[in-house]
Amino acid sequence: MVKDTLQKLYGNLVVLSNLKGQRRIPYLSRERITELSNENLRKTIAYAAYRVPYYRRLFKELGIRPQDIKTKEDLKLLPIIERETVRRNPDLFTPDSPDKLKPIPFVTSGTSGKPLTVYHDIGSLLANIAFGERERQVLVKLCGRRYRELYISYSTSTMRKVWNLYRQLTYIPFRPERHVVSVLDPVEKIVEQINRICPEIIMSYGSYLETFFKLVYLRGLKVHLPKAVLYGGDSMTEDGRRFIEETLGIPVLSRYNAVEAFKIGFFCEERTGFHIHEDLCDVRIVGEDKKKNGKGEVVISNLVNRGMVLINYRLGDLGSLSNLVECKCGRTLSLLSSLDGRVEDIVFLPDGKFIHPRAIWDVFKGRKEVLQYQLIQHEPRRFELRLLTVDRKNYDLIVNDVINDLKALLGNNTYIECEYCEEIRREGSAKFKPVISLCKPEEFML
Ligand SMILES: [Zn+2]
Repeated sequence: MVKDTLQKLYGNLVVLSNLKGQRRIPYLSRERITELSNENLRKTIAYAAYRVPYYRRLFKELGIRPQDIKTKEDLKLLPIIERETVRRNPDLFTPDSPDKLKPIPFVTSGTSGKPLTVYHDIGSLLANIAFGERERQVLVKLCGRRYRELYISYSTSTMRKVWNLYRQLTYIPFRPERHVVSVLDPVEKIVEQINRICPEIIMSYGSYLETFFKLVYLRGLKVHLPKAVLYGGDSMTEDGRRFIEETLGIPVLSRYNAVEAFKIGFFCEERTGFHIHEDLCDVRIVGEDKKKNGKGEVVISNLVNRGMVLINYRLGDLGSLSNLVECKCGRTLSLLSSLDGRVEDIVFLPDGKFIHPRAIWDVFKGRKEVLQYQLIQHEPRRFELRLLTVDRKNYDLIVNDVINDLKALLGNNTYIECEYCEEIRREGSAKFKPVISLCKPEEFML
């Protein structure tokens, strides 16, 4: 009990010490922002070179002194880290001398369908509450100081895990009134909840929100319209965004975050791109390709997390930086003008329900035997599951449980054909989708 109280008081202290100036940071002069980010970069590099095995060895091998990396420009001197390297050798990227407070593991399926565990230290997790003030100000401008949020997600989502941790680690009351509903509920039930709560903000995955609002519209359901919708986790199509903004008249906001870096960028009221949290996460674009509208691959360096240090890490998204000198909103943080994040395939079922791929990921998340999976919907009730496991023995051991769990989700009268795969795809090819749907309901064929 005393330990809990002390822990929470410590938590509050960390949040408060980071809170100062957060609202002003997005509006500082460019010089000051560059200074702040370079300062954090130098601290991260010094920490990595001293405590993290991968970087200790790297600096020695390259003959670079940590103090040679002074500015973001110097990051080009270091190699790009691939997700697969981290997935195979997580210990190389975590500090080796034990901290008093153990880092917290978060699991992501990312863009490859292969689970990756990323550790975050408690200090940076707590500071993240304070950093959130920058993003919250956009919502305050659109919805007023006291707003209700409705979050449509699944029970093991990263955000819900983070919120639960905050509840355990701090006394700070949640400012917005937060409600959570399950992504697995039928549309009609979610509409009921929305009409009961009347939230100013509805948050979920991009592909989910777009499908949800289109279905509500096409089915003629009466729903309370929020003052803004906010998506993250995956992307939204341009068509979906226009439908929500123009047909329904609701501003669509987005946040760019990943399990590898909790704060990368956020939409402002102008909604022309993501303002990058430059001092928390460096964003570089590499290998710009004219065939892809000049977009290149997003490479990030997390400048705050000490639970696992990722510098020059290829995130797997395509994007480009904006040339805009100043955004109309007045914020000076640079802008990521376009981002081709994943737009996930939604699985529509004959009973009118639809399933977001994150719910399917939930079936595999806790199974260490699964290295990669891909579920393909060929017909409304006919699926093909490709499963890559450590070996055939592991496959035989889990295949029935996996199919039962999937049937619980997709319906018992679903036919799932499962096959053992030696390899689902090679690394580095086009974007991988863990869930592919080859059928859409007729109402979407408009
Ligand atoms: Zn702006």
